[in-house]
Amino acid sequence: MARLILLGPPGAGKGTQAARLAEAMHVPHISTGVILRDAAAAGTPLGNKAKAIMDAGQLVGDDVMLGIIRERLAEADCANGFILDGFPRTIPQAEALDGLLGERDAPPVVIANLSLDEDELRRRIAGRRGEDQRSDDAEETMLNRFAVYQEQTRPLLDYYRDRVSHIEGKGSVQEVFGLLTALVASASTTAEQERAGA
Ligand code: AMP
Repeated sequence: MARLILLGPPGAGKGTQAARLAEAMHVPHISTGVILRDAAAAGTPLGNKAKAIMDAGQLVGDDVMLGIIRERLAEADCANGFILDGFPRTIPQAEALDGLLGERDAPPVVIANLSLDEDELRRRIAGRRGEDQRSDDAEETMLNRFAVYQEQTRPLLDYYRDRVSHIEGKGSVQEVFGLLTALVASASTTAEQERAGA
């Protein structure tokens, strides 16, 4: 069991991998993008506001996102771990998350960054455009999402530099899944050894 934070640029495969890992580890897959798209589909006030921001490729405000994540992590199904996909996306979000994840006896926190070169990212998002028709995969929005990633989310790699593991996202879904499960397993073993030795 682990609490996994999955980082990476748009199109790196976070959603696909997070869903698989959640199933394999029996922990919830928490995608803030899915939460916001569900709210938009339901037409709630939050959803309506978020939809305009998402369609512009911008980020929903930190206060709103923190409220969402604080509530979600407090739910009972998160006690044994979870996979965070799409959160944090800014330094203030990461700082607040550190505060939320403070407890000592909880499962280890594993931070993985899925890396992929930009040409491959563009190819993948262009392919996705035909498939699941996310309204924010349109060309112009995608360019904004990359720019926002570079400006606001990429600095997280520096914020987490002592804790993040870089995973090559170029292989097949199965190959990348194998790398991620190995990382989680080794973090869990280390945490157990530390507990036993303490
Ligand atoms: P995703 O499905 O993770 O690519 O998220 C889709 C969109 O939802 C993003 O482009 C943002 O507009 C919004 N979003 C998702 N997660 C966050 C977050 N942690 N902070 C701010 N905006 C977010």
